[in-house]
This record gives sequence, structure tokens and C-alpha cells, in this order.
Amino acid sequence: MEKYILALDQGTTSCRAIIYDKKGNPVITSQKEFQQFFPKSGWVEQDAMEIWTTQMNVAQEAILKLNGDYQNIEGIGITNQRETTIVWDKNTGKPVYNAIVWQCRRTADYCKKLKDEGYDKMFKEKTGLVIDSYFSATKLRWILENVDGAKEKAEKGDLLFGTVETWLIWKMTDGKAHVTDYSNASRTMMFNIHDLAWDKEILELLGIPEKMLPEPVPSSKVYGETKTTIFGGPIKIAGAGGDQQCALFGQTCFEEGDVKSTYGTGNFLLMNTGDKPISLDNGLLTTIAWGIGDELKYAVEGSVFVCGAAIQWLRDELKIIEKAPYAEPASRAVEDNGGVYFVPSFVGLGAPHWDSGARGTVVGLSRGTSREHFIRATVESMAYQCKDLYDVMKKDANKKSEEDMGGDGLRVDGGASANDFLMQFQADIIGEKIVRPKVIETTSLGAAYFAGLAVGYWKDKEDIKSNWVVDKVFEPKMDDAEREKLLRGWSRAVKTAQYWSSLGDDEEE
Ligand code: ADP
Repeated sequence: MEKYILALDQGTTSCRAIIYDKKGNPVITSQKEFQQFFPKSGWVEQDAMEIWTTQMNVAQEAILKLNGDYQNIEGIGITNQRETTIVWDKNTGKPVYNAIVWQCRRTADYCKKLKDEGYDKMFKEKTGLVIDSYFSATKLRWILENVDGAKEKAEKGDLLFGTVETWLIWKMTDGKAHVTDYSNASRTMMFNIHDLAWDKEILELLGIPEKMLPEPVPSSKVYGETKTTIFGGPIKIAGAGGDQQCALFGQTCFEEGDVKSTYGTGNFLLMNTGDKPISLDNGLLTTIAWGIGDELKYAVEGSVFVCGAAIQWLRDELKIIEKAPYAEPASRAVEDNGGVYFVPSFVGLGAPHWDSGARGTVVGLSRGTSREHFIRATVESMAYQCKDLYDVMKKDANKKSEEDMGGDGLRVDGGASANDFLMQFQADIIGEKIVRPKVIETTSLGAAYFAGLAVGYWKDKEDIKSNWVVDKVFEPKMDDAEREKLLRGWSRAVKTAQYWSSLGDDEEE
């Protein structure tokens, strides 16, 4: 009877369950979307009970599709949307408020106040993060301050906090395990990434009772077993990690200096920095990559807010493309970008430009500009944005490390990495090789690996490494003059977006 590992991929818009075999191949996938709530401008919520039931439905469906026997599953690994905050009553198992989603900006004012009071440096040093409403701590504070009786109940020990993996593990073990893995904990803005513990000074500052927080644990460890009513019998829950950290692991970026780039809705660049946290400027974050046994790895992380989302915009709003994959033939249909550059800064520019007032900007239009030029400019923007991030990350990291950071090319994954035109252009524009593995669903694969290592399904990291199979390598082909010309055009376009923003009088948060 062949055995498998089940990965639960609890994303921002959908829950997925993927069953992996020993070779790291996905054999069964099941997926379902769930509801998003936008109660006010800038607010984003989800129903934590719906997350729980949807995630269990897809997991049960995946096991049914396999053969219905829970005994075929050796372990469960979880990967999740990070930072999303859930508080529930431990006596009833019911959330006291909707899950506050990472995108939610409701605590922006409070974060600004913390910054104005000069806490930036303290948070950066302790947590590796910049003060921002994305992270969990101020969302948790908001619930304690705004939900009737929450603060008192939390102080009495009746309420529990968790990010999504914590919530799912607590529910699946019927309340027996209240844990968070280090990688998820390191996104809460209250976890000391040096001591691997909740930071008392921060908890006090924000008024968060420590007793409601989960126990921080390694990413690969048996946390408990599923209660028998879910799958017909107990399955070990043996791994968890934030989505981007799981992707880094799924890409087998095990060595210091290994970098991966995930092209999904946004673009996330992570570099393994080994045993020590490295602090970078330009808004790049320091984060825990994973903990396995005694091993603890850190990473630096940078993100681009709008990547594949720009293609969705072409499809859903402009309606000049029917399906995302059509972006590739459209881009190839013209010889070049026709002088058109598009900066898709719909929600401002992130690292390394940081301009929250910038908005989408198109430059270089002429009478001859075609739909294909516009689509190509959009696809190219995905590569330029990643290049800007990659450059600062590499340069800064190299200054602070003896290793040659990012020296061995860039490993890519995520839905948009299927676009060969984009990948070739990315290689050309960064002037380094791009390597795309066969499995580009590395997020759930990383979670499966964490769980599989804990239950002995895979022996060690070497065992996993042999599963990583190259699909395609993209070597840079563009000559330097051409690359420089394009980069000048891009840089002028970004400056235009910033200039437009600098003239504005809109109230930005
Ligand atoms: P997420 O996990 O963030 O939901 P995925 O990894 O599933 O994202 O990737 C989907 C994103 O990639 C969408 O934003 C979509 O527009 C984009 N995308 C998918 N295929 C292509 C393609 N061939 N070319 C460009 N973008 C694509």
C-alpha cells in the first residue's frame, strides 16, 4: 500500500489540499474558494469557521479521490496565508470576531502612531519587521480593544490567538495543540526572532496577554493527531510554515545564498541567509525561514504588491485578454515593447522605491501602440519589479555576508512562472540564469516536506533534494546595450510614477 503526504494550502482566496508522493509529485489536488468581506474601505475579513470547514472539505475530498483510506496518509503539513489573525474562545471553539486578513489596513493609524513615537528601530531589531498593519500584532490588539469583553476574557485565559495554521491545528487536534511554527510566528510583529520567544516588551506595549499566545515550535515536528471524526482515524499533523517560507523550502533553497522568486498575485523574493538573521535596508524584512530539529534558518524577504495581479487586471478590468496564459503569445506577437513601459503601482510602490502615493502609470504611448505592446509592457513590468528588488537584496546581503548571496541563479515558481517569455525576459534583465523546476507549486510541496521529514517519510534534506527536477533553464541572451536601454526606460517610467505622486494632494494613509 503506497503512502503519501497530505499538504493543506490555506491561501488568501482558496483552500487547497494536495497529496504528494515520495518523488514530490502532486498526485491529487482539491480546491475551493471561500468568501471575502470588505466591511469598510481598506478593511478585509474572512470567516474563520468557513476557513476551517472549507479546508476540511477539500482535505476529505482529496483523501476520497485517493481511495478514501486515511491510513494511506503518513502525515499532514500545513502552509497558510501569513499574518491573518484569529481570536477564539477556547471553551466554545468559536471565533470572537472574523479573521482579520493580512491585507487589512484598519490599524494603519495605530502603526503610524508607533512609528511617530520612535518604535521603528526596536521592532526591526527584535522582530526583523518594519512596523506595519499587515502583521498580526496590531490586528490582535484591535480585537482586544474593540470586541465587547474580549480584553477581560483574554486576561482570564479564556481566549486564544492564532495565525491560520495555529487555528487549523487547534481545531484538527480538538483543542489539544495550541502551537505556531517559527516561520509564522516571525510574521506577527511580536515574536523575538533571536530568542525564539514572544517579546515581553512588545506584548506590554500593545497590551496583549501572553497566555493567549500559542507555543512557538519548529516547522517540522509532530504537533498532534487529527481527531478521528475528520478522516475516519487519526493522522499525524507534522509540519507547518508560512507560504513564502514553504516555497523557499519546496525549492530546496537549503544553502546560504539560495534565492527563489514566486510569481503569483504578488512577487515574493526570499534569500536564505543561513544561521544568522541579516538586517537589510530599503524595507526588506528579516524573517525565520524554518526550524527543523536544532536547525534554524533565517531569510531576507522583499515583496512586490502587484505582479500576476496586473495580468488579472488586463483580463478582468480592461478585458483585453481572455485568459492569463494568453499574455505569452500576445507578448511574442510584437518585436519589442514599442517604447511602452507600464508601472503597475496600483497600491503604491514597495521595495526599494517606497512611495505609497504612486499609482499605475503608462508611458511611451504612440499612435502605433497596439494591444500587444500594452500586454507585453505589463508582462515586462513583472520582471523589472523583481529586478529592482533582486538588485538591492543581493547588493545589501553581499555587504553583510561572506557567502556570495544569490550567486547561483534564481529559482522561480508560482502560476506566472509558467510564462516562458516572462522567464526569458527575467533572465535577460537580471543578467543571470533562471531555473524553473518541474513542480512550480512549491508552497504546498514545502509544507509536505516539513511534515514528511518529521514522520520519516523522507529521510533527510538530501533525500528531498533529489526530488527537485529542473524543467527549464533560461540563460541571459540579451546584449548589455539593449539591457541598459530597457532599464533606462523602466527607470524613467518609475520616476514618472513617483513624480506624479509627488504633485498629488490626495490624502494617503
Ligand atoms: P496566487 O497563489 O497568488 O493566487 P498563483 O501562483 O496561482 O497565484 O498564480 C496566479 C497568478 O499568475 C495570477 O495573478 C495570474 O494572473 C498570473 N498568471 C498565471 N498564468 C500566467 C501567465 N502565463 N502569464 C502571466 N501571468 C500569469
